Amino acid sequence: MCGVFGIHGHDEAANIAYLGIHALQHRGQESAGLVACDGRMRRVAAMGLVSDTFNRDSLATLPGTTSVGHVRYSTAGSSELRNAQPLMFEYTGGSIAIAHNGNLVNALELRTELEREGSLFQTSSDTEVIVHLMAKASNPELLGRLQEGLTRVSGAYSLILCTADGTMIGARDPYGFRPLVLGRLKDSYVLSSETASFDLIEAEYIREIEPGEIVVIQNGGMTSHRHEQWAASLPASRFCVFEHVYFARPDSMLNGLSVYRARERMGRRLAQENPVDADVVIAVPDSGVPAAIGYANEAKIPFEMGLIRSHYVGRTFIEPQDSIRHFGVRLKLSPVRSVVDGKRVIVVDDSLVRGTTSRKIVKMLRAAGAREVHLRISAPPTTHPCFYGIDTPTRSELVAASHTIEEIARYVTCDTLGYLSHSGLLNAVKADQDKSYCSACFTGEYPLPLGVGAADRGGLVKLRLAKV
Ligand code: AMP
Repeated sequence: MCGVFGIHGHDEAANIAYLGIHALQHRGQESAGLVACDGRMRRVAAMGLVSDTFNRDSLATLPGTTSVGHVRYSTAGSSELRNAQPLMFEYTGGSIAIAHNGNLVNALELRTELEREGSLFQTSSDTEVIVHLMAKASNPELLGRLQEGLTRVSGAYSLILCTADGTMIGARDPYGFRPLVLGRLKDSYVLSSETASFDLIEAEYIREIEPGEIVVIQNGGMTSHRHEQWAASLPASRFCVFEHVYFARPDSMLNGLSVYRARERMGRRLAQENPVDADVVIAVPDSGVPAAIGYANEAKIPFEMGLIRSHYVGRTFIEPQDSIRHFGVRLKLSPVRSVVDGKRVIVVDDSLVRGTTSRKIVKMLRAAGAREVHLRISAPPTTHPCFYGIDTPTRSELVAASHTIEEIARYVTCDTLGYLSHSGLLNAVKADQDKSYCSACFTGEYPLPLGVGAADRGGLVKLRLAKV
């Protein structure tokens, strides 16, 4: 998963963009990058966190009034420096940079075709095909090139591009799988994956970039355009419901909803659907907290901090190798004995993927004296991998793909296990005709046909164990 941020028309563009991607750090911790434009385009990118990648000196090498940034967790293309974004290229139109959140489902076919025609790829990232398609486009204008390129591309993309002259473009795929929001900071336009970064820089939220919309921001003004291919009619939008369940920051507004409130409603519904007599409700922090509060309020059972999360766990323990995963969970989460000892505990988490985390949590709680452990998940069973940008393991590793709820409960060794229903989830995110979602990870109903490469991409993606 990734986060993108861009600012146009600010004297301290790179500094602001630095703050912007800092607020999006939860969306990707593998690499961070910024480009800035002042007639020339410059770039700084490295593996690691935003705060490790940039300092006063490196930011000083990024002059210009337009800057675009990116944080990355690889879902397509391997984790290495050459894939760190924004990617920057020279072509007949000049210098261009691109930052992408989402996954293209036909990137492999396009890449094979482009390579056969002589394109030399510099990265293994799916994003690069967009630039090659733009470079080959017959239309000489930047917008026209992008529109032409995007007609060939299928999948999830929220993009921010910029050129050396400071023009900035934002584009969202016709389904609107991934978020992209527009804001204003004094005379500057800002684009971001999430509104949380607007709060940090004190920018005013204007609106979402609409599915299928392309905005061109240059010389202080903005124009809005449509994808050529979809000019007549757009498909129904399919915003990713998992952004609300787990991925986005709770202080962001997404798809017109507060993420925090949506999670709280998931918890309330969960309590209605899966009540159980207990003494205390606790959360798996941080992402499980709003749902646990919702559950506790609905069930009228006190909410307490029964698990404490260490915020100092380094990257070493994010790697999902079996030998260290065991320590990983314990290093990250520890039980509060005085909250759980002798109690019947309801523990709320946002999702259960492989089940390994839950199993360890249940064990930990029992070791800390919990008399009963009732696990409640504020989402339906995760049965299918995501091909549109969330890091999920292959179907064979998704415990709910091949096991019943009773079997999963036995595996994680909890007393009872309850999931939120799919209709309960849709209700919590206020799904209706105007607000439709992609929930393929819970239903297997993929809104967009998967390309050849996507079918086995599930084998390449790894579950990231980092939680925010
Ligand atoms: P598992 O041990 O595989 O069942 O992991 C479940 C935990 O991972 C839950 O606490 C989730 O909050 C978290 N989680 C779910 N999806 C993801 C994801 N795509 N990346 C990282 N963590 C996740």
